[in-house]
Amino acid sequence: MSSAEPSLDRLVGGGVVRPGDQHYDEYRRVFNGMIDRRPALIVRCASPSDVARGIAHARERGLPLSVRAGGHGVTGDAVLDGAVCLDLRPMNAITVDPGRGARSSRPGRTGASSTPPPRSTAWP
Ligand SMILES: Cc1cc2nc3c(=O)[nH]c(=O)nc-3n(C[C@H](O)[C@H](O)[C@H](O)COP(=O)(O)OP(=O)(O)OC[C@H]3O[C@@H](n4cnc5c(N)ncnc54)[C@H](O)[C@@H]3O)c2cc1C
Repeated sequence: MSSAEPSLDRLVGGGVVRPGDQHYDEYRRVFNGMIDRRPALIVRCASPSDVARGIAHARERGLPLSVRAGGHGVTGDAVLDGAVCLDLRPMNAITVDPGRGARSSRPGRTGASSTPPPRSTAWP
């Protein structure tokens, strides 16, 4: 582990998960059960700042980067062997704008984890 990694752990709101950590296998799993890839690091992004820190970390070390949102992509490119995986699932808030009759969701939100919207609210 490099000397910079503890500071990444401290700075990332959602936490950082490595091989051997308790939730590593859970967090690297995607919908397509045939995909069995082992990222070097899973950055649990709770904010855009965490995303930026994860990108900087990968760039500084010359590591590949992958982005995981819902994890439903059939090819499983959300997780790559030896990469820094930006796990966006902690960014799952929904914002409702009653004035416009619309709501928007952060990238980690899945349809399955969303309650049906009121009939008057647009839903993509
Ligand atoms: C049961 C099932 C039903 C589906 N039905 C439909 C359907 O009806 N219509 C439809 O259109 N699709 C469907 N899909 C496909 C799926 O919804 C799409 O692939 C969707 O885009 C996945 O979104 P996600 O957030 O889960 O992506 P994730 O799996 O989380 O992947 C993240 C995305 O980011 C990309 N990415 C990763 N790293 C990088 C990087 N470094 N730079 C840039 N990009 C990167 C990945 O390639 C991937 O596209 C279905 C999939 C499943 C499993």
